[in-house]
Amino acid sequence: MTGGSTLVNLLDFDLDGLAAWCEGLGEKRFRAVQLFRWIHQKGAADFAQMSDLAKSLRDKLSGAAELRGLQVISEQRSADGTVKWLFDVGGGNAVESVFIPEDDRGTLCISSQAGCAVGCRFCSTGHQGFSRNLTTGEIVAQLWFAEHRLRAAANSQERQIDNVVMMGMGEPLQNYAALVPALTIMLDDHGYGLSRRRVTVSTSGVVPMIDRLREDCPAALAVSLHAPDDALRDQLVPLNRKYPLAELLATCRRYLDAAPRDFITFEYCMLDGVNDAPEQAQELVRLVSGQSAASRGVGRVPCKLNLIPFNPFPASGLKRSPRERVIAFAKVLQDAGIVTTIRKTRGDDIAAACGQLAGEVQDRTNARERLARRRETIPIAVAGDAA
Ligand code: SF4
Repeated sequence: MTGGSTLVNLLDFDLDGLAAWCEGLGEKRFRAVQLFRWIHQKGAADFAQMSDLAKSLRDKLSGAAELRGLQVISEQRSADGTVKWLFDVGGGNAVESVFIPEDDRGTLCISSQAGCAVGCRFCSTGHQGFSRNLTTGEIVAQLWFAEHRLRAAANSQERQIDNVVMMGMGEPLQNYAALVPALTIMLDDHGYGLSRRRVTVSTSGVVPMIDRLREDCPAALAVSLHAPDDALRDQLVPLNRKYPLAELLATCRRYLDAAPRDFITFEYCMLDGVNDAPEQAQELVRLVSGQSAASRGVGRVPCKLNLIPFNPFPASGLKRSPRERVIAFAKVLQDAGIVTTIRKTRGDDIAAACGQLAGEVQDRTNARERLARRRETIPIAVAGDAA
């Protein structure tokens, strides 16, 4: 509950949760379905708009509940059509959502936490430390707002977002209790009706929660790999020290039994002189083919590799790999039969690194100082370094 409100935020409920809450008001499930459709399909922000609900029910709702979205701090539109929103989540924290239009689909990248505790070395959000988990309502509010804002801008009732990736700020699997109802709302035919194949949870590798997601709500899975061996991944993704590659790959294999796609997407951020050498591409091939020290007991993991150009930010001390090195790296993977894509950089004129805008808000509120004290500093061995 934010802003001191005692009203229940209906954005926090998946359909079963809303039905249970409506039952407490003496209302049948079909009323909850109507209400849910008004909220998510029509984007109603006010109970007075819900014309097919009895006036007595609308009055009851107004006295007990609200539709509390996020306050927009800024909206930036790139020349290539990318839109980036910065939302205020209180306490000097902000989170980002990004809409990326493509010829055949519209993708929304949303955040699951204010800050992040994982602390990946190449991530601006990770450098800000962790503030708090978002609620289900705050996760869903990003899609609710963006979908209906884009419809209004297009003067259309057609769906604008048909692909959601949980790749914004935060580690979604470290906010599992809020994540699963949010995914359920996205997938519900009375909500956004998105295909399971088009809702992607991106994780840095929280092994036990990947197994739980497989049981509870198997959406498409993207795993942030970023290194072909444990020694380097320990430095880039500190969570690797807890869940090393052998465990991570084994859980990815298990996930495929329930996954909506027959492959796992591995994300690999290309860092100049750190993880982008041809020998590292070869090691990566061995890793996903079940032929490296880390994967010998696991076997092959059917996968796609997504190579991501690094978005430099000053505190990282890292640089983007030159384009030709990325292409050479991709070729090694492709020659080994691994489907490999190089992510296009989008919205460069507005976006900078993910988390950077939110970091600037934190700077203004001095939160960074508090968070910086928690930051662990681990030197990265860059190829060619004497150290
Ligand atoms: S890359 Fe993801 S998991 Fe790692 S610090 Fe950034 S937000 Fe957290």
